Amino acid sequence: MSRSAHPAGPRHADVLPEGHYSAPAADLNALDPKVWAETVGRDADGAVRVGGVDVKSLAEQHGTPAYVIDEADFRARARAWRSAFGTEADVFYAGKAFLSRAVVRWLHEEGLNLDVCSGGELATALSAGMPADRIAFHGNNKSPREIQRAIEAGVGRIVLDSFQEIVRVAHIAQSLGKRQRVQIRITVGVEAHTHEFIATAHEDQKFGIPLAGGQAAEAVRRALQLDGLELIGIHSHIGSQIFDMSGFEVAAHRVVSLLKEIRDEHGVELPEIDLGGGLGIAYTSADDPREPHEIAKALTDIVTRECEVARLRTPRISVEPGRAIVGPTAFTLYEVGTIKPLDGLRTYVSVDGGMSDNIRTALYDAEYSVALVSRTSDAEPMLVRVVGKHCESGDIVVKDAFLPADLAPGDLIAVPATGAYCRSMASNYNHVLRPPVVAVRDGEAKVIVRRETEEDLLRLDVG
Ligand SMILES: *Cc1c(COP(=O)(O)O)cnc(C)c1O
Repeated sequence: MSRSAHPAGPRHADVLPEGHYSAPAADLNALDPKVWAETVGRDADGAVRVGGVDVKSLAEQHGTPAYVIDEADFRARARAWRSAFGTEADVFYAGKAFLSRAVVRWLHEEGLNLDVCSGGELATALSAGMPADRIAFHGNNKSPREIQRAIEAGVGRIVLDSFQEIVRVAHIAQSLGKRQRVQIRITVGVEAHTHEFIATAHEDQKFGIPLAGGQAAEAVRRALQLDGLELIGIHSHIGSQIFDMSGFEVAAHRVVSLLKEIRDEHGVELPEIDLGGGLGIAYTSADDPREPHEIAKALTDIVTRECEVARLRTPRISVEPGRAIVGPTAFTLYEVGTIKPLDGLRTYVSVDGGMSDNIRTALYDAEYSVALVSRTSDAEPMLVRVVGKHCESGDIVVKDAFLPADLAPGDLIAVPATGAYCRSMASNYNHVLRPPVVAVRDGEAKVIVRRETEEDLLRLDVG
């Protein structure tokens, strides 16, 4: 379809309708390294290549939509986090961002530990050979069976999330003749997102035990009394997609105050402190995330300073980045289907996936960028909304973006920075089949999670 066949919407900033977008990039063919995986570039013919494989052959061999993950980039980011924190701290990758057996092996080889928060994630980690003592088990409602399985497997730590769980884990550990290493997750009254954080005395949420009103101190008292538990530290996780470190500063101050209270009351200096995850990544060119070494230095300095003031030995720090490791390493490859220009508004570009492979736009109003990747184009920018194929008007992948006005059905477009919370939150809405995850590296593409089939769907439907 040529541009004249479907008149594009308005193109100039002064007549654009309301939206989240900024002006179109000077060159729509450019790929901002901030939002694209490390090895992404364009071939001589204009097609995008990643890990030495071009997207047209990926689409031919593996179909669309597909998540394409840059293995070298994943490993490099995991290594960067590992080396930024050195041997004095532990990095736990948050498996909920995206977990598969290949990813578990990469993490193991790169020296990272792993957070899981369900029996399914635990099973995946164990089946791919992650040593149990490098696994932390999280969750606000772990079932007795999950707890038993985790203790039997020998997980390195269970993060306790409620008074009931303190007793439950102690009881199960004791009945298995074991003493389980645990941390207590507390809420410190800090909630951080992107460029702001809110610090209150109370926190109204389902996770953790409030510091407020002495509840966290009471939880520590109980845990220290139970033979089945070895209390190794305090855990705090304050938010997601965080760019500003000052929320961590307040959180660390409050956690260290609790450690001091524990020392004064029990004569015990807990050896570990976990500051959680939540570090931000670039979804669009407007985002400016920090490098792991800057984050490591900031967090280590904060904890060291607070402990000096409190006259405590500095505990061993752990962190739990999920999004910041896997997020930037993958993009979702789609084929363009229907193109529908709405006069005076924008052009709706439908792709062969949608909210079933990326729920974040509908769920969090998340912002993404998009690029034409099967070729370059010199056409003018056209304001588009990239939507899926689902029966739901909120089925939006990219709310506002610019693509070349000569975009046509059959073109391939890609949405970068979809490595985290896209495949892991994917659904079968409308019985759409979940896309595969294809790992590329050194000119080779390997399916690490295969595409769902209709047989997969029907196998569960036993009525
Ligand atoms: C979700 C979560 C993380 C990871 O968060 P990211 O935003 O992906 O870094 C880490 N720790 C805990 C306890 C979490 O719930």
